[in-house]
Amino acid sequence: MNPVVGRAPGERVATEGLVPSLADLHARGASQQPTYADPAAVDAAVAKLRTMPPLVFAGECDDLKDKLAAVSRGEAFLLQGGDCAETFAGVTADNVRNKLRVLLQMAVVLTYAASVPVVKVGRIAGQYAKPRSSDLETRDGVTLPAYRGDAVNGYEFTAEERAHDPHRLVEVYHSSAATLNLVRAFVTGGYADLRQVHTWNTDFVRESSVGQRYERMANEIERALTFMQAIGADPDEFHRVDFHSSHEALVLEYEHAMTRIDSRTDTPYDVSGHFVWIGERTRQLDGAHVELLRHIRNPIGVKLGPGTTPDDALALADRLNPENEPGRLTFVTRFGAGRIRDGLPEVVEKVTAAGVDVAWVCDPMHGNTFEASSGYKTRRFDDVIAEVQGFFDVHRSLGTWPGGVHVELTGDDVTECVGGGEELAEIDLAHRYESVCDPRLNRVQSLELAFLVAEMLRQ
Ligand code: PEP
Ligand code: MN
Repeated sequence: MNPVVGRAPGERVATEGLVPSLADLHARGASQQPTYADPAAVDAAVAKLRTMPPLVFAGECDDLKDKLAAVSRGEAFLLQGGDCAETFAGVTADNVRNKLRVLLQMAVVLTYAASVPVVKVGRIAGQYAKPRSSDLETRDGVTLPAYRGDAVNGYEFTAEERAHDPHRLVEVYHSSAATLNLVRAFVTGGYADLRQVHTWNTDFVRESSVGQRYERMANEIERALTFMQAIGADPDEFHRVDFHSSHEALVLEYEHAMTRIDSRTDTPYDVSGHFVWIGERTRQLDGAHVELLRHIRNPIGVKLGPGTTPDDALALADRLNPENEPGRLTFVTRFGAGRIRDGLPEVVEKVTAAGVDVAWVCDPMHGNTFEASSGYKTRRFDDVIAEVQGFFDVHRSLGTWPGGVHVELTGDDVTECVGGGEELAEIDLAHRYESVCDPRLNRVQSLELAFLVAEMLRQ
């Protein structure tokens, strides 16, 4: 987040004529939406949200769009990461700092080891709504609505918690605001100063072999900084970073209420986050999510799963970015380690041949999930790496730029994904499995991923 921001989008919230109405969107049969029992309570929550100040400025979104344009040109690399699902209870200083810290460590590894500018985006400050493969969940003969993220219902398996509650949308706003406030303070207030490169490497991670590898790199960086300072160079970039927020734009009530008209340009922005994306399950060409996001001016993403045809990708690009504006559209591919080498080339080839300007980013998580024998949803670290390697190989063979990675991670020492240098086994999953949705890389695994990706970038 750049402290030199654009002007606020003003108070103009009347989006009529510039954005389809909520009713128009719902008329498209929007998928993966909450089912609320009390329409008056929904209206009240939406009305409340429409009065709330923007969480991000349109000028900041434009700034990120420019950075993503550099990614699409092959001049920068995107690091996007955070929880699968944030929770209201997770809005604590420690939790936010730990996530930021691992992302800063990963970014410095990528920047230093691969000598490439890294665009830093958190799945943070808004990632509260989840698409689910089933509406219901059954435990011990009891069936209740599935957990759809804190934006919609509670995780606890009781009828009361699992009921869809529109007031939660207002809580999403407040939780996002509190998170973003802390993130802004951290990234501009000294914590992200490159002189802190050693202090980010604390606790358990310092003891790991990747932590030691990091320590050696941090020593080199410190020497370089001292040298720069000795010759009188001390640019602003040494002292703060640009960091942006992102989440899946899923619940229409929330995203619509947070869409405002930017006073500079008279165009709509979704001011709930800098970057928003459309998930694999809600990217229907005529669907509500594509319809809403095609009207906003933020940089946006679309997840593309293994069933994506080149025509699907071309049609999405045409609908979402008809002017072919650089930085506007990011395709986040999540084919799975076993399918990426076969499935991705055709899509990239045809999109490139059509002259479509897009940033290609790899989500190596969502195509590689399986259920361990103990019942935990997990992912193998090796599969994650294999998908990233496949992504690099495909792009390198086509002469296109592997523009970034989109990962689910946490700054804590959790046991949710198996493998990695610590050789976490399925039996270890029960030890510290804390995700309320998909399994995340822990801090050591995240750092390992960063070093491996840096090597791929260097090749
Ligand atoms: C996610 O990013 O958590 C997610 C649900 O991804 P996808 O839409 O790719 O399945
Ligand atoms: Mn997920």
